[in-house]
Amino acid sequence: MRVGLHLAELGRGTPGDHSSKFVSMALTPQQFYAHALAAADDQHRLPLSRMTGWDISPFEADGLRVSRLRPPQEKESPRQGEDPNDCRSCERRDEGIWLDEHWRLTRIERVGVPLVLMLHPRDHHDLADLPDALASELGVLTCHIARHIEARPNISRAHVYRIGDGGAHLHMWFFARPSGQAQLYGSWLVVWDDLLPEYPDEVADEDADAVADALLRSYGGQRPER
Ligand SMILES: [Zn+2]
Repeated sequence: MRVGLHLAELGRGTPGDHSSKFVSMALTPQQFYAHALAAADDQHRLPLSRMTGWDISPFEADGLRVSRLRPPQEKESPRQGEDPNDCRSCERRDEGIWLDEHWRLTRIERVGVPLVLMLHPRDHHDLADLPDALASELGVLTCHIARHIEARPNISRAHVYRIGDGGAHLHMWFFARPSGQAQLYGSWLVVWDDLLPEYPDEVADEDADAVADALLRSYGGQRPER
């Protein structure tokens, strides 16, 4: 109800309001900022999030404060590789621990969780412009890669993410969650990953090899010379 009131104040209809002022689109940057600031203190700080109250939060709420909310930028920053001519992923189209005609799989080094893999199309596409044939392959590959990661001893889950605010070339993240470390459940995993010491490289390398070999058997493709 509170959100509905805010929306009405911002000149938008409330849910179920079919009057002519109802505009079916997301809040503008300024409307979104005003909506968020209405919940912030006089220093533009929002209250601590519900997630910091979870008992798996990596941060104790005591002494923690939220960053000041900054006004929206007029123009979004360009991502790396918006122009395919200087896209670093396109430059590395032949590199990876596994490849096929359309896709490549790489391992991300210097992480805290047991294994982080990344799947990229070899040609320059983002998620929203992926042709349907490649989108079908992405679905199947995502399931196979997650299955092979979760089959590794002492790994319980493969979390899959597509974010895409840094690089314009599609890249899917696979984060392996270690077994038993119950504080690392769920969406805090990427923050814990940043806090944890670097995982032993040779162990991650062996697990990455095993996942790539399993993918070769289950899906096809090739393992490039290393
Ligand atoms: Zn590219």
